[in-house]
Amino acid sequence: MSPASERAGAVLSVDLAAIRANWRILQNQRVTPGHTAAVVKADAYGLGAARVAPALLAEGCRRFFVATLDEALAIRPLLSGADLAVLAGPFPGGEAEFLANDIIPVLNSPEQVFAWAAFAHKRSQRLPAFLHVDTGMTRLGLTQSQAEELAADRNTLASIDLKLVMTHLACADEPSHALNRRQVQRFQAARALFPGIAGSMAASSGVFLGPDWHAEWNRPGYALYGGNPLSGQPNPMRQVVRLQGKIIQVRDVDAGEPVGYGATHVCAAPTRLAVVAAGYADGLFRALGNRGCGTVGGQRVPLVGRVSMDLTIFDVGAVPVDLVRPGGVVELIGPGNDIDAVGAAAGTIGYEVLTSLSARYHRDYLEGAGS
Ligand SMILES: *Cc1c(COP(=O)(O)O)cnc(C)c1O
Repeated sequence: MSPASERAGAVLSVDLAAIRANWRILQNQRVTPGHTAAVVKADAYGLGAARVAPALLAEGCRRFFVATLDEALAIRPLLSGADLAVLAGPFPGGEAEFLANDIIPVLNSPEQVFAWAAFAHKRSQRLPAFLHVDTGMTRLGLTQSQAEELAADRNTLASIDLKLVMTHLACADEPSHALNRRQVQRFQAARALFPGIAGSMAASSGVFLGPDWHAEWNRPGYALYGGNPLSGQPNPMRQVVRLQGKIIQVRDVDAGEPVGYGATHVCAAPTRLAVVAAGYADGLFRALGNRGCGTVGGQRVPLVGRVSMDLTIFDVGAVPVDLVRPGGVVELIGPGNDIDAVGAAAGTIGYEVLTSLSARYHRDYLEGAGS
């Protein structure tokens, strides 16, 4: 261990080789030719875009999506030779910064389309952009009638080098949901307005809906980071994240002893508690109080009492004594307690577990063989 990881209260390991393997798994889901982009927004879902994006570039990924222009500016220098697109598109007046930094806007509304076209027209250039059409998410994107108006507007289109038409699925994690098929049909109708332009529909779960949802470009995020794209089924992805919280103190307690703020847990029998140096300030949701768990030596240990800001308490009475000592660890995320399980225990989703991982953790990046 490096001194920094020795000092830290908790250590987050990010397996970059597993992220690369997951990108290959997603690419191999394709039965028709096409590409897999990578969504690295929100700092690669909390795992560190500056490390994750170059690892995916080395694996062959050539198109990246982030949410905001700031996120794009932070990693643009690391991605030479690859496309980098901003899902939010430009705010009014922000067009020049996209062009100056070789960042592609996703145009989500008629206003963004017209602003980009006007900006390009003023420069006497055709400027690259992706177009987002809404097919049932009702969030961002042109409606079908707005897309029809654009398709008929030769003036506006003359200024835009349209590289991609994309849409986003609302219910891809529920394969039997009727909206999935309806969105395919609506997307076909929208794409027909822009013949010859590549399309993109599937994010992580959409990749596993099957070929009808695969356009030329899939654009997963969560599954790259080990999240399960198949809710309720075995996870086909490799685990990426391991979070180990250091034990500060081990204490033997009698039956009847209250534990933590509010005394919300009372030990039913004599047991041993481990107090771990991570809490809700680190993104361990307070909702995990008396509901979450950790693992020690592969054995589940219940989280008891409330999660405090910097500390969490586990009942380790069932674990062999020699596995639980100050300086040792309780695994807070890992095999047997993955991000999806932690999310479910907290009443949320694994996506939020990842994006809540705090900067206070010491981060170890595992490169793996050959990377
Ligand atoms: C976040 C996002 C994605 C990636 O979704 P995952 O479920 O993480 O794979 C793809 N497309 C859009 C428009 C998004 O907002």
